[in-house]
Amino acid sequence: MIVASQKPMDEVLGYLGGAQRVLVLGCGTCVAVCNAGGEREVATLAALLRLGGRQATEETLERQCDAEFFDPVRDQAAGCDAILSLACGVGVQMCARLFPDKPVYPALNTQFMGINEGAGAWSEACLGCGDCKLGLFGGVCPVTQCSKSLCNGPCGGSTEGMCEVDTKTIECGWQRIYDRLQRIGRLDLLETNVAPRDWSKTHDGRPRKITRPDLAG
Ligand code: SF4
Ligand code: SF4
Repeated sequence: MIVASQKPMDEVLGYLGGAQRVLVLGCGTCVAVCNAGGEREVATLAALLRLGGRQATEETLERQCDAEFFDPVRDQAAGCDAILSLACGVGVQMCARLFPDKPVYPALNTQFMGINEGAGAWSEACLGCGDCKLGLFGGVCPVTQCSKSLCNGPCGGSTEGMCEVDTKTIECGWQRIYDRLQRIGRLDLLETNVAPRDWSKTHDGRPRKITRPDLAG
């Protein structure tokens, strides 16, 4: 899921400036699961804005990254001075696209695509590199789990399974790749000479796009 965290209130208020009527708009999917932008966080933020003397209305959509879910709030959006979106950056941009004449501000910092590690803990898992090679690495991503994003074996600096970048808090991703391949009996995959990553698949031609003619209406 996409993991996000809340912005400091000072930054949010700075964006809102003199806007009095604010639509506080949550997203009920990823950011709700990571307790950053769901119904509960919307209620808290709206209450804080009211305490500060603003008129805040609150809504939480099922998703803010799909236009169809915005239909129920079109009137509220038209009648407010600004929309404060508690979605990830994708949702904020969709909101701005749908309401081109309305100021739309982010209330969250979108952090990464990650895994829930337990109560109150998430870790980055995928960069969306566009060229997934997990099949070669036992399902452990070298791009995100190795501090140097190395795809051809460890750098040689790890100590007792920990990364030289921080031996106290960061596990060596390549140790994890090795352990996992050993467990599934596929250490032979380490003999694969993986071509240098083609970062153009990640960085070139932004925004990246996918078109599926077979799904086009
Ligand atoms: S290899 Fe790329 S797509 Fe696959 S998990 Fe890692 S960052 Fe994500
Ligand atoms: S110690 Fe391991 S995780 Fe850290 S940079 Fe080297 S190979 Fe990557």
